[in-house]
Amino acid sequence: MTQSPYDLVVIGGGSGGVRAARMAAQTGAKVALAEESRVGGTCVIRGCVPKKLYVYASGFSESFHDAEGFGWSLPAAPVFDWGKLVAAKNREIDRLEGIYGANLKAAGVETIPQRATVADPHRVRLADGSLLETRHILIATGARPSLPPVPGAEHCLISDDVFDLSEFPKRLLILGAGYIAVEFAGVFNGLGAEVALAHRGPNLLRTFDSDLQTHLAEEMTKKGVDLRLNAALERIEKTSSGLRAHFAGGEVLEVDAILAAIGRAPNTAGLGLEAAGVELNAKGAVQTDEYFQTRIPSIFAVGDVIGGVALTPLAIRQGAAFARTVFEGVRTKVELSALPTAVFSQPEIGTVGLTEAQARALGETEIYRAKFRAMFHTLGGRDERTLMKLVVSKSDQKVLGAHLCGHGAAEMIQTLAVAVGMGARKEDLDRVLAVHPSSAEELVLMSKPV
Ligand code: FAD
Ligand code: NDP
Repeated sequence: MTQSPYDLVVIGGGSGGVRAARMAAQTGAKVALAEESRVGGTCVIRGCVPKKLYVYASGFSESFHDAEGFGWSLPAAPVFDWGKLVAAKNREIDRLEGIYGANLKAAGVETIPQRATVADPHRVRLADGSLLETRHILIATGARPSLPPVPGAEHCLISDDVFDLSEFPKRLLILGAGYIAVEFAGVFNGLGAEVALAHRGPNLLRTFDSDLQTHLAEEMTKKGVDLRLNAALERIEKTSSGLRAHFAGGEVLEVDAILAAIGRAPNTAGLGLEAAGVELNAKGAVQTDEYFQTRIPSIFAVGDVIGGVALTPLAIRQGAAFARTVFEGVRTKVELSALPTAVFSQPEIGTVGLTEAQARALGETEIYRAKFRAMFHTLGGRDERTLMKLVVSKSDQKVLGAHLCGHGAAEMIQTLAVAVGMGARKEDLDRVLAVHPSSAEELVLMSKPV
């Protein structure tokens, strides 16, 4: 090939694409990044960051109540203003977007604010029709929310819409029982909406430990979320005052809005990938080897677009591994001994390693479990319980999994994941002195298997 103007063109400026572009450019490579929306991608603009800000906002309704138990008198019923929250969130997202753009520029990446597609293995076509020649192409286009396959699905909101609604929905139905469904049920319930969550299956968070599933369902119900499990949606009807959801068995629910949170599909439609020879799986995810290379040697892909676990830190790790492999000459895979994750439900979940069912399928297992009312709630008066569970291999006493649901679970699991990843045994936890008074001390005080 004759001399190419670019060493790398990245399509998609989200978590994976930005990390890969910056690292590649820092090696001296000539890098362009095409982004059709806003730099920062799902996580920064319409995912993790605004979601966590809204989780904080929604927590105040309970905190106001708790405060009274600690001697505070609130002058009048506190009033929540949705418009003010949206505006404050927008200022923070604008600030972060600016930082992402500045960091790309500082690394020497040329950001192109346009949609891009693959013209052939060494050329990227921009929306304005121009073609960029490049040695490598990185597909980092993420995923997009799916809609339920029922009549009237076009009336549903998706998570992209929900942050900026012009009107706060007083009655909200959420479809699904994964991360997004349980997180937004907590957010809108805490902000004062009447929230129903309808799920086709018998449990929330199907892939999580069964004790977490039942504990979260109990706690969400106590907080006022109307959980409708085993509810098969048949159709959605628009009425003069809102929406009507019809379920199998004749049940009907009238609401102002319906949020579809039933999973996300890889963003590969119309990208020109199949024509370029790149293999997609049945769900449309780009197929790569463990170094993120597709069947076409010059085309790589990272992040949600390759399917599998869809988390920001993983997309970032994959983007970095790609840059190290291709631009730093160090072949790098992403190998994780234990993958920690948090669900910012209310109460929140932190989990790492094997569930009880997964561990039992591998061999004899001991379970340690603590369920308690955190000290904060004694005076606060909230009827909320914390669950902590350790899954331990009976033969060598290794901690195979840890599952927490309660205040601070996300913060705790980050540290615990280090120990689990290093192969900690139950006796290693037992040897540690408790930090008192805390909830986390229960993790080192569970003396007998249940
Ligand atoms: P993205 O961040 O989605 O970036 C893809 C980018 O590509 C987008 O900016 C898009 O506009 C752009 N693009 C697409 N097609 C083109 C094209 N043809 N041309 C140019 N640009 C294009 N993960 C966590 O770890 N923690 C959380 O708390 C968390 N919360 C979430 C909350 C929500 C509501 C959602 C939806 C997701 C959340 N996630 C969370 C998941 C996380 O956001 C994703 O796993 C992560 O953003 C994936 O990064 P990515 O780089 O693969 O894709
Ligand atoms: P999830 O995969 O977490 O959950 C999808 C839910 O929708 C499941 O309950 C699933 O049910 C249900 N579902 C799937 N298809 C249908 C259908 N056709 N009809 C009815 N229900 C259906 O997806 P989300 O959309 O919640 O989130 C996408 C991903 O984004 C997450 O998996 C996660 O990786 C990431 N994310 C991470 C967050 C975090 O780290 N805190 C927060 C938000 C998102 P079933 O169990 O029966 O399959």
